[in-house]
This record gives sequence, C-alpha cells and structure tokens, in this order.
Amino acid sequence: MRRILKDFFIYLKIKGHRNLRRTKILKILDIILFCLHSLSNIVTLFFQPAVGNQYGIISLGFLSLSGYLRKNGIDSKIVVLVDKDMEDTVEKKICQFRPKIVCISFHWYIHAYEIVKIAEAVKKTDPNIKVVIGGHSSTYFDKQILDFTSSIDVIIKGDGEKPLLEYIISQNPQKVENISFKKNGEFVSKPVTYRQVTLENLTGANENMNEMIDEWDKYIKTKRVRTSAPISSSTIVEEVETRPSEFYLYVGKGCGFNCCFCGSSKTGNSRIFNRGASVYRPIEDVVKDAALLKNNGVESLFIDFGPFNDESYFLKLFDRLSKLDLGVVYLPWNLPSNDIISKLSTSFSDFEIQISPDSGSERLRKDLCHRGFHREFYSNALLKKSIDKIAEVGSSRGSQLFLWFMCGLPFESEEDYLETLNLSVLMKKNYHQLFNSTQDQLNCVPLRLTPGSPIDLWPDKFDMRKLRSSFKDYYGYCKDLISGKIEHPLGLERNDLSEAEVIKRAVHYKENILSA
Ligand code: SF4
Repeated sequence: MRRILKDFFIYLKIKGHRNLRRTKILKILDIILFCLHSLSNIVTLFFQPAVGNQYGIISLGFLSLSGYLRKNGIDSKIVVLVDKDMEDTVEKKICQFRPKIVCISFHWYIHAYEIVKIAEAVKKTDPNIKVVIGGHSSTYFDKQILDFTSSIDVIIKGDGEKPLLEYIISQNPQKVENISFKKNGEFVSKPVTYRQVTLENLTGANENMNEMIDEWDKYIKTKRVRTSAPISSSTIVEEVETRPSEFYLYVGKGCGFNCCFCGSSKTGNSRIFNRGASVYRPIEDVVKDAALLKNNGVESLFIDFGPFNDESYFLKLFDRLSKLDLGVVYLPWNLPSNDIISKLSTSFSDFEIQISPDSGSERLRKDLCHRGFHREFYSNALLKKSIDKIAEVGSSRGSQLFLWFMCGLPFESEEDYLETLNLSVLMKKNYHQLFNSTQDQLNCVPLRLTPGSPIDLWPDKFDMRKLRSSFKDYYGYCKDLISGKIEHPLGLERNDLSEAEVIKRAVHYKENILSA
C-alpha cells in the first residue's frame, strides 16, 4: 500500500496539475493503470540507445540477456530510446517500471555519447538505481569509461548472462565475475573468467514480445538504419534500412576469421570475450524462436551470422525454417555455396542476400589472407558463379543482392580500387534485376576504425595512423554526429593515403556506379 501511495505521488509529479482538469473517470482509470504498472516485477530495465532517431536496433546481447533473466525468474523490459526525447523517456520509463537496475547497451561504438547521457538521466531521476553497461565497446574501454563518468556503477565485460544475474541478485560487484567498478575511487577490474561454452537453453524471443520489448508493435513497424556510421557526403549511402517487420534471429556468436578492420574478429573477440571461435545455438532452439517471432508479427528474419567452413548447420536450419513461410535477410560471412543459395530460395517466401567480398581485387584479397587478416579467399570467378545462382533461383521472385566493398583497405593500390569499381559495374550490368536500388545495394565504403580490430591494435603493421584512440575521442566523435560537424569521419588514415583521399575514392565509386 505504501508503494502504491508513493507511486501515486510520483504520478502527480510526472503528469502535473494540468491533468486535474480531465474528466474524473478518465483520471481515476489513468491512476489505477499507472499504479498497477508500478506493481510490476520489472527489476531490470534495458535501455537500447540510438543516435537521434537512427541506429536504434536492439542488440542481440540484450535479447539473450533478457531471455536468460526471465528463465531465472527476473522480469525485465527492453526500451528502445529512438524517435523520442531521450531524457524525458528515461524519466517516464523509470517512473513507470520502477527498476532497481538499469542496463545500457554499449556494444556499438556509435553510442559512445548516448550511453553517458542516458546514465546521467537515470541517476537524475533516481540516484539509487544501479547503472550497468555491457557489450563489446564497454569491455574494451572499461577503465576509461569509469574514469569519464560517475553515472555508471559497473561494467560487465564479455559474455554477460551469468555475471549480470549475479549482480542483480547480490548488487555486490565483489561477488561477480567479469566485472569492472570503482571502490573508494580506485578502479577494480576482475578478469573475464566467465565465457559461454555452449549456447544451449538461451533464447532471443518470447511468447509475448510485448512483455519483453516496450512498445513492441511500434518497434517492429518502424524502419531503422541497421548499423554503420554516416560519412560527410550525401553521395555515399551505407545506412541501409531494415525491412518492414524484420527482426534479428539469434543464431550464434563469435567468429573464427580475422578481418583487419573488424572488432568482432578472432583477435577482437579473444580479447573481449575470451573466445576466438564461433559457437552456434542448437537448431531446435533457433527454430522455436523463429516461430515465436512469427506469432508476434515478424515477417522477415535477419540473420547476420555465417562463419562457416561447414555449411551443414545452415542447410539444416533453413530446411527447418521453411515451414514458417517467412522472408529472410541473410548475411553469410563468406561466399555461400550453390547448395545454400538453392536452400534459401526453397525455404523462404523471399530473400535478400548480402555478400562482402571487401575488395574486387583478387591480388589484395590474397595478400590480406596471406597476412592472416581476411576471410577465406575465393576468386572473382567463384563470386560470379554464386551470383549466377542467386539470379537463377531468385530473379523471378524479386530476390535482392547487396554487395559490400571497401576502399582505403591496407595495401590497396589505385589499380586494386579500380578493379573493385570495374567488377561492380559489371555486376550492375549483368544482374540489374538483383539491384532494385543501386544506390543502396552496390557499396564501396571507406574503411573506418573500429575499437579492438587488428588495425586498431597494431596500426603500424598495416602502415596506418589512428585519428581516434580513447573513449573520450569516441565520445567527442559521437557527440559531433548530432551536429553533423564531424572532424574525422573515418578515425584513421593510411600513411600513404589521407582520410580525405579515401572518402574521395568512395564518392568516385558511387558516382560511377550510378551513372554506369
Ligand atoms: S567475417 Fe570478418 S568482418 Fe565478419 S565477423 Fe568475422 S572477422 Fe568480422
């Protein structure tokens, strides 16, 4: 009863006196609903940051953590802070759900500014709430973040499932693995000793997605930019939007490849998650999630996982998913075989496939592979064969292809870049039916710095120079994204090729592709 009364006063504080003019019945109903809400058992709120109204896609980590807590008897809710006045929403959601713990995702570095703003808004609303952050970037910058702001209480590093549960139960960081925090002003960092060896019994969905994700219907219907970061040229478009009613399907984590630009590479993951290989979820569990998502209005699955040298997992998975009659956006991390492409076409109502050769130059790809900093090598002839197959099985159904290349890669010569351009032009001419929007679907993006990537760790090895290093640098860069005045959009440059020259290549590519 005391809690209801307390919440009633909070209600009056939030709504203000202007509401007292509303009809009595509406007012009473409103109050009852509010107080019932406040009796919910939501102990933990997950805030997914966005940048303005973009980049607000729920991270896979949050989906898995939320499911894990639920299985262990802890209710939680994921709130996406997009399309909204962030500080106002944080205050309202805290007053609505009354959590003891707030978790903020800091997986993608693009949220460096927002996570601090959200943490400050939480503490301003209720200083007793514990603020936890986790994810790739927070693990990488743990000490620097805790030195930067006092609004974040702890950082959970690496795999977060078990440590977060332990922290929620004990609220004592001393008793928790994989954690960093401050004690009497001193930085304490526990090593990443907890690592998931199996992904059994996890989930990335729920019977009622409304229980798991706040304003689910709105979330699923809103188009959003998937990831990436803007470049100060309107010609370069790399901010690909989600499809209507699309949602992540959680298939696995980790990667055994070691692309030089990738923070989630074998090198990056070994340092962050103490894991240098990929782990798959049991097919049975993934199919169960897909069925739950379909029951909740999802029409298209987004699968961004494919570190295969053995495709049998995906052949079986796609076969099992075929009964659901859903669409799919599939990002294999290497070249998909003809068998996989055929299976895609028979298992889904429609499909979009995104392939990343990274460069059109076989010489450069071979060189990077040889140095141990790329995916598996495949020739351009094999790439064309795969695309022939995609066209053969997909054209009549309107299936679409995205090709992702990069410019400014280490050791890329002017000739290598021109090979990328020529290959792309050829693709556009030969497979025009697979590219409804050339502007979005044929891309050569300038190489950017990602924390924890091999280039970030060893720039000299790649003859490169970093223009960003610390958390503070990323914070400043992300703050500038809001005003649009970005000093260093790429965050790095080659010793023999400046940031501006790399961007010039990307603009040149796009102009030539569009006019081809
Ligand atoms: S394939 Fe390359 S880019 Fe993709 S996750 Fe692995 S290392 Fe990163």
